[in-house]
Amino acid sequence: MKKLTLLLVFLALILAGCGAAEPVEADLFAMDTVMNLRIWGDREDLRTATEEIHRLDTLLSAANSGSSVSQLNSAGMAKLSGDLLTLTRDAVSLSEKTSGAFDPTVYPLVCLWGFPSDEYHVPTQEELDKVLPLIGTEHIRLNGDAVTLDPGTMLDFGAVAKGYTSQRCADLLLERGVQAALLNLGGNVQTVGTKPDGSSWTVGIADPENPTDAIATLTFSGSMALVTSGGYQRYFEFLGNSYHHILDPETGMPAENGLASVTVLCDNGEIADAYSTALFVIGLDKAVEFWKSQNDFEAVFIMNDRTIYATAGCSDLLGNCEFTVIER
Ligand code: ADP
Ligand code: MG
Repeated sequence: MKKLTLLLVFLALILAGCGAAEPVEADLFAMDTVMNLRIWGDREDLRTATEEIHRLDTLLSAANSGSSVSQLNSAGMAKLSGDLLTLTRDAVSLSEKTSGAFDPTVYPLVCLWGFPSDEYHVPTQEELDKVLPLIGTEHIRLNGDAVTLDPGTMLDFGAVAKGYTSQRCADLLLERGVQAALLNLGGNVQTVGTKPDGSSWTVGIADPENPTDAIATLTFSGSMALVTSGGYQRYFEFLGNSYHHILDPETGMPAENGLASVTVLCDNGEIADAYSTALFVIGLDKAVEFWKSQNDFEAVFIMNDRTIYATAGCSDLLGNCEFTVIER
């Protein structure tokens, strides 16, 4: 899967093109994925973004026993501060907003399926029934900056960590006066500002069947986040069936509803990341209802049969494919 991520990063970069002045650039491995940063700024800007990514990786990875999240999960309680407090509060509210489709307490399920260890396992219904009662934000008790988890409940910020991090980097770079940046955190793309030649950003949406190719492109300007969730990004096969890493918190099973991927375009990376996961869980019809109830994002839906739907606000930005527009 890591090879795939590398190719996705490569693809998005080809499509992104270059401005007149050359950007400074770095590749790095963090948050279990390959990342590429291109900044129309100086080496110090690049160092700032790189250090921020490593700092948040150390804090947020549930699978890394040294991380703050992992320590919270073992202890069941902690005093939170800084990013962890912000993320916990945001995650609870994004979970409520998406009616639990995005759920930061899925970690016991994620472990049951063996995703953190790569020791995959298809759980029996009995095993799922034991773990499902631990899932849900009602098991997170936040009191000021103190958090207590019900016994067995564990947090996983995997579905928002990259989006939160890319947004933090974008904010830091803007504060530093950077003119433009293209941050690709394993397929989570964040654009900052405008390239020196004034050209728009063009980012590819991966073809779910052949993720090294783009099935479509989105062209837009300014600081935006473009985040895709898809079953093809991480999965395993067992007895002829395929099981991916985005779980429906209600059933404990990988979400299966005809969607191959959801791409969210939004001016905030953290929200884009939480929404792309949530919309992938609830499926096209409910996702369209959710879009109609919100004003903070646009989305492109790719179905398993390769048909493409785009919400009205991004239909003019979508290129290189045939699609149906979803009107408000
Ligand atoms: P990716 O991390 O591949 O970009 P996502 O942002 O959709 O994709 O996040 C998927 C990760 O989030 C999973 O690997 C798992 O750790 C966690 N996760 C799985 N299902 C959910 C869910 N319904 N809500 C919140 N987190 C989830
Ligand atoms: Mg996500």
